This record gives sequence, structure tokens and C-alpha cells, in this order.
Amino acid sequence: MIDIEILDVHPSTSNIKWISWIPKKINLFIWRLNSDRIRIRSNLTKRSVNLDSTICPLCLSNSEDVDHLFTRCRHTIPLWRSLNDLWNTSNSILNGVSNDIRLAALDSISKTEKCLRLATHYVLLWLIWKWRNKMVHATQEKRSEILNEDIMSSLRVLSHLWISNRSSKIGSDYEEWMKCPRSAVT
Ligand SMILES: [Zn+2]
Repeated sequence: MIDIEILDVHPSTSNIKWISWIPKKINLFIWRLNSDRIRIRSNLTKRSVNLDSTICPLCLSNSEDVDHLFTRCRHTIPLWRSLNDLWNTSNSILNGVSNDIRLAALDSISKTEKCLRLATHYVLLWLIWKWRNKMVHATQEKRSEILNEDIMSSLRVLSHLWISNRSSKIGSDYEEWMKCPRSAVT
């Protein structure tokens, strides 16, 4: 059974892979992200929405657009490094945000692993967006507490919970998953 299916909802986004191992809300978020439909500050400005600030709510030093927030912000760059560490690889599938994921460059890995890596990639993008939204609404006193949240821990726990519940290919042993998701494939 092929677990990666094309989400053929819009011609310009036909390269989005729908991952059935993670919740629908995350797949829909990825589709919105790739369709440039998220309410990020650069998009709101393009639509002439008046904003108090156009600055990234995480670093407070750069303009917020998709590229900056998800891949170039000093608070999100370490998360992608940690995702590579989780997979014990330096071979990142990140190239831009998610509409140009270099799965083709990963020919040496199994279809199950490709699907797993894509799933953890999607979950991290979604967690960054949730984190960013919290920061938008944070009071000054709460900023450092939210900035110090352990996003990678949430990624490990949630992705294991979701994927092990939805796929018979992934064992329920969290310790194995923590070592490397690859070793949890049954
Ligand atoms: Zn930033």
C-alpha cells in the first residue's frame, strides 16, 4: 500500500504529498502554506491589512515572511538541525519550505522512511506556526517562557503518537522512536 498520495486539489500545488499518518489539520496547513494562504505578516501586508508590526514575532529583528519564519530565523534554524539529528543524517530534505522537498534525492531510502521523514517535516512546520502564533499574542513577560518551549520534544511525542496510531509499520516503542524514527519501523 502506498502511503503517500498526491493531494490534487489545485494545479499549482499538485506536488504536495498528503500524509495519512498525521492529522488532516496538518496536511491542510501544509496545503495552505504552499498556496500562500497563511496569515503571515508579509501576506497580510500584500492584502493591504493594517498591521502594528511586520517584524518576525520570534526574533523581532527581520521582516516576517514564509522563508524567514520557517527556514532563516535564528530561532527556527536550530530546529531543522535537530530534525536532522533525530534522523541521524546531514541530508536534509528541506529546500525552501515544503513545495520543493528533495525526496527524489533520497533514492537510497525506503518509501516508508521517505514518508516518515516527510511526516516529521510537516509536523515541525506546523509546530513552528503554532509557536509563532503564541508569540504574536504573548505579553512581554511571557515572551521568554514561550521562546524557551521545547519544540523538538513536542515533535517527538506528537509525531510518535500520531504515526504509531495510524500506521502498522511503526511500532509503539517510544524508546526506539527516540533513538531514531528509522529504528521504530517494524
Ligand atoms: Zn525571525
